[in-house]
Amino acid sequence: MSGRIPGNEWVENPNRGTAAYVRAEAGVIYKPMLTYHQTVGMDLSKSYVANHPVPPHNWINPYRKTKWQTQELDLAAKALYQQQFGDHWSNKHYFNIQCEIVGVPVVNQETYTDDQLRWIAEEDTVPKVLWLRENGMDIDLTQVHYVTNSSGSASEYWPGRCSEHEMATFNGITQHIKWPYNDHWDCSVERLDKIAQYAREILGESEGEVDLLPDERAWLEAIYNTMGSVNHNTHYTHLMVDDILHLDPERHGPAEWYLRLLFGMNDTLAKTFELLKQTTAQLSEVDVNVEVIKNRITGLEVDHDAIKAAIDALPEPPPLEAA
Ligand SMILES: [Zn+2]
Repeated sequence: MSGRIPGNEWVENPNRGTAAYVRAEAGVIYKPMLTYHQTVGMDLSKSYVANHPVPPHNWINPYRKTKWQTQELDLAAKALYQQQFGDHWSNKHYFNIQCEIVGVPVVNQETYTDDQLRWIAEEDTVPKVLWLRENGMDIDLTQVHYVTNSSGSASEYWPGRCSEHEMATFNGITQHIKWPYNDHWDCSVERLDKIAQYAREILGESEGEVDLLPDERAWLEAIYNTMGSVNHNTHYTHLMVDDILHLDPERHGPAEWYLRLLFGMNDTLAKTFELLKQTTAQLSEVDVNVEVIKNRITGLEVDHDAIKAAIDALPEPPPLEAA
C-alpha cells in the first residue's frame, strides 16, 4: 500500500508522526472519512508546510493549484485536536484523511468559486476516494457536513458541532467546524456539498439521484437552509433521536429524497416548512422536533404528484430567515 496521493508533491515534515489509525473504539467500528480544514491565510509556503508542528495529510491551494503531501495516507495525521478524555479518536479515527485547503474562512460567506470547488473535488476528493477503494475501503459521498450558518462557531460549545458519537459513526466528507472539543470554525460555510456532488459526478455516481423540476429545486434549497439548523447544520439525512437514524442511501438517497418523504406525508409544503422553522436555536428543541419529524416519515411512501400539487398550491415561498 503506497500512502501517497496521486498528483501530490511530497514535502518531508519531521513532525508528521508515526501513529497508526485506530480501527474501532467504545463499540463503534470506524469508517474512513475526509476532514477538510482551511489555512486561514492565503500564502502557503513549502517551508511552512515542511515545518508545521501538527500537519494534516496534505495541503492544497485552489488559487495556485499546488498540492503538497506531508503525511502518508496509511498513517494518522495530527491536525485535529485529540481530547484527553471522551470515548473516541479524532486524529487517529480509522482513515480520517485530513487536508488543509488554502483559504480564509469568513462567517456566513463562501470564498471559493464554483471552478475552485470543482478543482478541489477533482484534484483532492476523487483521488482519495479512489485510493480508499483500491485499498478495500470507501466513503459515502452522500454524507456531507455542509454548514449553512457559522455564526458563533468559534466556540467549543457551538451547537452545530457533532457529538462524539455522530463523528465516530460518520463515513463521508466533514470539516473542522463539525468536530467536538474544538473552537476552530474552518471551513465555515464553504460548499462542501458541491465538492461532494462534483466528486460523485466525476466518479459517475450521480445518476441514482432524483431529477428535480426547476421549482422543486428552488423549494428544496429554501428548505435546505432551514434544515441546516434542524440537523446540526448538516444536509445529510441522518437524525439524532435516541441514536443516529441512518437512512439507507440505496432507498432514501441524499437530502432531496428525504425531503420528498417529508413533503409526501404533509398536507402542504408550508406545513412542513413551518415544522422545520420551529426547530431552531435551542438544541433541546431541535431534538424534540427532529423526533417528531422522524416519527412522521416512518412507513410513508413518496407521492411525487402530491409534492408537485403542494408546490403548485402555494402562492410564493415563505421568507427565509437570515439567521
Ligand atoms: Zn482546521
